[in-house]
Amino acid sequence: MTKEELQKIIRNIPDFPVKGIQFKDITPLLKNPEAVRYVIEDIKAHFANKDIKYIAGIEARGFIFGSALAYELGIGFIPIRKKGKLPYKTVSITYSLEYGENSLEVHEDALNRGDKVLIVDDLLATGGTTKATYDLLSGIGGDVVGAAFIIELTDLKGRDKLPCEVYSILQYNI
Ligand code: AMP
Repeated sequence: MTKEELQKIIRNIPDFPVKGIQFKDITPLLKNPEAVRYVIEDIKAHFANKDIKYIAGIEARGFIFGSALAYELGIGFIPIRKKGKLPYKTVSITYSLEYGENSLEVHEDALNRGDKVLIVDDLLATGGTTKATYDLLSGIGGDVVGAAFIIELTDLKGRDKLPCEVYSILQYNI
């Protein structure tokens, strides 16, 4: 598998879920074991030797890649969930979307002060979701060392919002 082959596997769906959005569909990647191995190994190699203790995956597609990466690295996984899903004591954050707002939550004891954590999601667009996750994890004492994505929509400049290292495998100008 090469980066060019990986790029061809990701399917572009125009006008989903609303007109004007080019939705990057990763389901063809998920059913291709070589492509899944490529993305996990690529992110693993990039963040090797950084003493990361946890992967924080953002619901829902960040769970798929984040848990595979945590398993490969032999470290723990922290779910960042939509409001109302986590059963124990939570900390939550509300942030603006293009239309309306969204809330994310994490368990207050998900990590210990100073633990190094890497955020994982499938795609970086405006960066609002990842910045909210960064603030949540920092708020409970985490040391967020980076954020990793399969896809980055570079025109939206999401990386400029993030006060940590940002790594993406594939870049698109939307
Ligand atoms: P943002 O907060 O703008 O960076 O949006 C990131 C979240 O929305 C990620 O969880 C993505 O899965 C999803 N997302 C945003 N734009 C797209 C897109 N064009 N294609 C697929 N997923 C997207």
